[in-house]
Amino acid sequence: MKTIGLLGGMSWESTQSYYKTINESVKVKLGGLHSAKVALYSVNFAEIEERQHQGKWDETAEILSDAALSVEKGGADFLLICTNTMHKVAPQIEEKLSIPLLHIADTTAEKLIESSVKTVGLLGTAFTMEQNFYKGRLTDKFGIDVVVPEQEDRQTVHNIIYQELCKGEIKESSRQSYISIIDKLKESGAEAVILGCTEIALLVQQQHTDVPLFDTTAIHAEAAVQMALSEI
Ligand code: GLU
Repeated sequence: MKTIGLLGGMSWESTQSYYKTINESVKVKLGGLHSAKVALYSVNFAEIEERQHQGKWDETAEILSDAALSVEKGGADFLLICTNTMHKVAPQIEEKLSIPLLHIADTTAEKLIESSVKTVGLLGTAFTMEQNFYKGRLTDKFGIDVVVPEQEDRQTVHNIIYQELCKGEIKESSRQSYISIIDKLKESGAEAVILGCTEIALLVQQQHTDVPLFDTTAIHAEAAVQMALSEI
């Protein structure tokens, strides 16, 4: 079994989901007392969030590259960055590493293609919904069209992530807001919706809507287990 490297803490609420999903999946696949080999570095999210909102992305890249190198030195065979947003600086992190990076958008795109989804809605932070590092990758590399909510709804989705979900607050009123935004994405032509922020599945799950949901945390974690258990 390979050792899975996790660059987490963004936020730790979702890193818990990664750790749990990865270990549960290994247990299902191997049984007995088997559990995943994991090397985890969990950052102080306040240091990252502050720089995101100030546009100091190069500084976030430096902090995360150092943390990723620690994960590599800790024995990881490959790395997951446990947040969609910080894949904005994935190229800078990847450049510093000798181990491969398992990109969250690639693992998600593969699942969308398996389900023949051609047009997908995207929920995430404003950075993920508005900038090109994520949407562009889905479209340019995988030919998937991406629709995002209108401006006011993007702000709602973004605020709920930082003000509630990253602090572990789950509110029914916020769930209803997300469900109505998911419905609007469907009306705009989305065949399915990506939960493109690793905390969203703490709030909205498949039982809350008929629109097919693609939870990036679960998809990314499951892909990590497959890679850890593969012969190659
Ligand atoms: N975990 C979130 C994501 O997947 C947001 C937190 C962050 O800004 O990294 O994008």
